[in-house]
Amino acid sequence: MQQDDVKQAAASRNTVPHWFNPDHPHLDIRDGDGAYVTDADGNRYLDGVSQLFCVNAGFDNQTIIDAMVEQLHKAPYVTPSQYNDTRQQLSEAMLEKAPDSMGEVYFAVSGSEANEAAVHFAREYTGSHKILTRWRSYHGWNYGTSSLTGNGWSSSVIERNAATTGAQQFLPPMSYRSPFDADTPEELAEKAADHVEFVIRNEGPDSVAAILMEPIAGASGAYTAPPGYFERLRELCDTYDILLIADEVITGFGRCGEWFGIQTENVEPDMITCAKGLTSAYAPLAGVMVSSEISEYLRDDGVPLGQTFGGHPVGCAAGLAAISEYENGLLENVRSVSPYLEERLRELEDAHDVVGNVRGRGFLWSLAFSKPGTEEPVVDPRTENTDNPVEAVADHAATDGDLLVWPGRPQTQIMVAPPFCLTRADVDQIHTALDGAIESVFSS
Ligand code: PMP
Repeated sequence: MQQDDVKQAAASRNTVPHWFNPDHPHLDIRDGDGAYVTDADGNRYLDGVSQLFCVNAGFDNQTIIDAMVEQLHKAPYVTPSQYNDTRQQLSEAMLEKAPDSMGEVYFAVSGSEANEAAVHFAREYTGSHKILTRWRSYHGWNYGTSSLTGNGWSSSVIERNAATTGAQQFLPPMSYRSPFDADTPEELAEKAADHVEFVIRNEGPDSVAAILMEPIAGASGAYTAPPGYFERLRELCDTYDILLIADEVITGFGRCGEWFGIQTENVEPDMITCAKGLTSAYAPLAGVMVSSEISEYLRDDGVPLGQTFGGHPVGCAAGLAAISEYENGLLENVRSVSPYLEERLRELEDAHDVVGNVRGRGFLWSLAFSKPGTEEPVVDPRTENTDNPVEAVADHAATDGDLLVWPGRPQTQIMVAPPFCLTRADVDQIHTALDGAIESVFSS
């Protein structure tokens, strides 16, 4: 079926508005296995972005499905105010993988809610109210998290409705299109961390509860921090009595080659929020891991919390099974295949002068599109979907290359974040599909 026919057919029967991309082909996905999905017409696609960075263990994973069914038979639901053995086992499994500083897990339902819980905890624990987040970050869509989100797309749509969370944004340590004038990664780390200190001092250190940050930027473009940056942030947090919260909704559970993204930076945070890959998206489940000091405080002084579906036992069963799948080969596959993925994506940078920068870690990558010879985005980041050539690359990759990718936010990039069962042959398919799609869009 032609792309326009697909759009039209889907649009004519769609009473569930697509979130943010009305012109993208509406695939009617009916089936999936491993890293592949199949639509209603039988077309098979390699899911190069794990839907939304979350079906990490791949589709039709029997281990996860069996665990969920077994839990449904045993106890489909147990209130969060009661002990549940599956919930307990999952919290132990999470803490075993997490940095040593983590002592306890509070469960939520979505990543947005986990971040809001982390903000509650940070404010109670520190007695301060401001939360510092990164410009162009994404932390959620809820009333509170939408004001923590520093993403231009969300801010125009959502921020005007957001609750005042005392959020202040700082500039990220981007090495490409950088707001800092630095010649080396070390200098960038120093200048970007000095800037955070400047913001803390100007906001008033006593008013700042936490820095909330993705260890490797997610939807805004897989930015990694220069070496030493996170160590400096940790030092700043210790100096000014501020908590460091790692938003690991995307990076948690193996996506960047370690169990948690912050472990690739060798830093111990005070809290970690997670969702998506926690259950490999087989069920909605999120968590906030807190340090032993914070958990002690929360137990003694109590923060009223609890959502009906927080720590849902079926989600916890999915989480336990997903972790065992990651442990039994999938995480190792991310580690062994990611250098090849990186190599083949970098070939696209060499082959196409509009691909200005390729960056990422593990199975989380972004290709930034720039006007040749410059770092200027190939299209104004605020351009609507219809006229955006980067969106067109994603469309071509799907229709001509049987590959699903996502243009991220801002839409000046293509994001690649495949399921962990990806093979080297799949990597070749990603390369061929993107190569062809970029050629079609930019050479015409
Ligand atoms: N934090 C990050 C880094 C995310 O990428 C997302 C979702 N993409 C969220 C938080 C919000 O998670 P959810 O959509 O489950 O509320």
